[in-house]
Amino acid sequence: MPSAEIITVGTELLLGQLVDTNTATIAACLAEIGIDVFRETSVGDNESRIAQAVTEALARADVVICAGGLGPTVDDLTREGIVASVGTELVLDPEVVFDLRAFFASFGRQMSPNNARQAMFPKGAKILENPKGTAPGFALAVGDKLVIALPGPPREMEPMLREHVVPLLRETFALGQTIATRVLRTTGVSESEIDAKIGDLFRASVNPSIAVLAHAGEVHVKITAKASSREAAAALIDQLEAEIRRRLGDCIFSADGSSLAAVLGGELRARGWTIATAESCTGGLIGSMITAVPGSSEYYRGGVIAYSNEAKTALLDVAAATIELHGAVSEEVASAMALGAKAAFGARVALAVTGIAGPTGGNEQKPVGLVYIAVASEDGRLEARRLHLSGDRETVARRAALAALMLGWRASRAAREDVAADL
Ligand code: ATP
Ligand code: MG
Repeated sequence: MPSAEIITVGTELLLGQLVDTNTATIAACLAEIGIDVFRETSVGDNESRIAQAVTEALARADVVICAGGLGPTVDDLTREGIVASVGTELVLDPEVVFDLRAFFASFGRQMSPNNARQAMFPKGAKILENPKGTAPGFALAVGDKLVIALPGPPREMEPMLREHVVPLLRETFALGQTIATRVLRTTGVSESEIDAKIGDLFRASVNPSIAVLAHAGEVHVKITAKASSREAAAALIDQLEAEIRRRLGDCIFSADGSSLAAVLGGELRARGWTIATAESCTGGLIGSMITAVPGSSEYYRGGVIAYSNEAKTALLDVAAATIELHGAVSEEVASAMALGAKAAFGARVALAVTGIAGPTGGNEQKPVGLVYIAVASEDGRLEARRLHLSGDRETVARRAALAALMLGWRASRAAREDVAADL
């Protein structure tokens, strides 16, 4: 399998003024076509350091892809750095000069002399067209290796990568292999619980391989397969996914990258339902997760952050006596908050959370991490859960928010299945 290195060029990258997204884009694209990336480098706008980075990368890898520094200005030095590294010279390409002149003429401007720099290419290089900008890229064979240069702006770089670089690499290296990945996102289970259920699979399975990755409040099971085509890789993943689903059950909420809030949103939309939220210890996090999904205005009515007892009573109609009797952190209050929000917003479903996020405020009966969540849904259905969540304040809030969304998702799905059963 051929290997590649990526070099991004730009002093802005080294000063932390620009976040390097090109490396990730190129790396993901190479992974898809089965090219290994073993090293990634960023270098400033300096000819000799660009040359040095290219020389070093060429000594290790079969393909070196550079991005950035192809523009018309004096600090765009990638082409100079590359020719210095490989010991060739830059030559003017008359066709590209012609195209550039025509481009400037098309909006009534004259091409300035520095723009002609963009028509300079290493001798023998294959020119890669840039339909979205003025600086074309190029690919230069160096022995049996390849140096590729692409412009820095992502909206120019990305299409060139897909349209020119991928076919070129496939052809040059006769690539047959594709790598595909799928992430099964779960919540409400720990990494060690997942390990106990599928550990044997991920120790035994080489292709597809499985990795378990813990995130805040979620555990992701990532399946990666290598095969001769996308379809074949997907089929390998399908098989393993089915087995993992059989073992992990309904803690998996998505397999296509969707967030839990998006999955819940999809379910609500399918039902034509609306939702509202009543939050105490999550401080609006559930509402924030819901509204992070584009199009959520179709089903999200709104929410109340009822932090004080008074707010719970005044805004959500939670009886003062209920709070007095059971405490603000109780199943009864969570349930009353959900019913209150459902009524206040006229929503079909409402989620509520009340709990102790810590680090202070806990006691023996009600320790830090004690959270009650509730969902009020159609036909007066009301469901509440008591949770003991671990972690710092932020983690407890995040876990509580995800648990509430999960409860809401399950309630909406269950309602849909009931309806389906009635039909
Ligand atoms: P231009 O013709 O625009 O000058 P260029 O090929 O010379 O293109 P640079 O000057 O290096 O590219 O970068 C131009 C712009 O492209 C940067 O200001 C930045 O917005 C974006 N860019 C460059 N490199 C990266 C990167 N690695 N990740 C994300 N964006 C980048
Ligand atoms: Mg530039």
